[in-house]
Amino acid sequence: MLTGYHVAVIGGDARQIEIIRRLNEWNATVYIAGFDQLNESFTEATDLEFESDLVKKLDAIILPVPGTDELGQIDGIFSNRIITLSEDWLRQTPEHCQVFTGITNSYLTDLMKKVNRTLHPLMDRDDVAIYNSIPTVEGTIMLVIQHTDYTIHGSKMIVLGLGRVGMSLARIFDHIGADVSVGVRSTKAIARVYEMGLTPIDMNQLDEEDLECDILINTVPHLVVDQHVIKQLPSHALIVDLASKPGGTDFDFATKRGIKAILAPGLPGIVAPKTAGRIIADVMCRILKEKVRKENVHE
Ligand code: NAP
Repeated sequence: MLTGYHVAVIGGDARQIEIIRRLNEWNATVYIAGFDQLNESFTEATDLEFESDLVKKLDAIILPVPGTDELGQIDGIFSNRIITLSEDWLRQTPEHCQVFTGITNSYLTDLMKKVNRTLHPLMDRDDVAIYNSIPTVEGTIMLVIQHTDYTIHGSKMIVLGLGRVGMSLARIFDHIGADVSVGVRSTKAIARVYEMGLTPIDMNQLDEEDLECDILINTVPHLVVDQHVIKQLPSHALIVDLASKPGGTDFDFATKRGIKAILAPGLPGIVAPKTAGRIIADVMCRILKEKVRKENVHE
């Protein structure tokens, strides 16, 4: 439980709604900003007045998954109001106040250093990335079904990258009957692909590999699906690029070759905002509770 904890939730999308619900369940005192156009109302949450003294009570601030932009502005789909996370405002929070975001950028990281508050970029955590890989895979399956006229079962498929997302993709697509090869660059990962009963592709020598496939899913955040790779794909092939923007595909070249290539960012928030919100809320709560536990031990 987070009884006695004061938490501000500022901006965001449907994932934040689930986070607010969870905070209410855990009995935290919740303040919200950037939800004025939301149809449902949170009876147990109070509007966050930025000019009021309640900033001095905040134990935690929750930003949207994208954090802020490079000007410190916080985006939200439930408001037209522009909210800026400023140094002056943050300095008024108690020193122990923790700030949670999905990802960070130089503005946010620098600001947190200046005001000496702890920042938790949750998407950097292995646990969050692994939990998030579940809705990411489900969203990928949805896209593949929508954009092909053949079954996944029996299709020849290449997954590039065997990280937190690539591992889940390779396993699930294998389970639903695709003939899966996985592109990796280390000998350790080649051994892992072999152990999983899948076919390894050595990305250090892509020139020598057979890359013909029906579905190519990229998770490597560098330009790896280049002209050489795309030239080997048949015209009916589909490329789904999951890597963070701008992805790892030469999209112009794919279009020139008549191959459908989709950049698909943010699938968890699109296909399963409730689950994606819960993943964030659960990890955040664990971090807050751990802090409370440590404080109690030291008292
Ligand atoms: P990760 O665990 O860091 O895995 C990245 C993989 O890429 C690793 O296998 C890594 O290999 C490989 N890699 C990195 N640079 C490479 C290079 N130059 N050449 C060959 N392989 C390289 O990351 P993740 O959590 O799986 O996420 C992958 C990407 O998907 C990220 O960009 C992430 O932001 C994005 N993502 C997108 C969605 C979505 O909805 N679209 C959802 C979640 C994540 P090594 O192990 O050898 O380093």
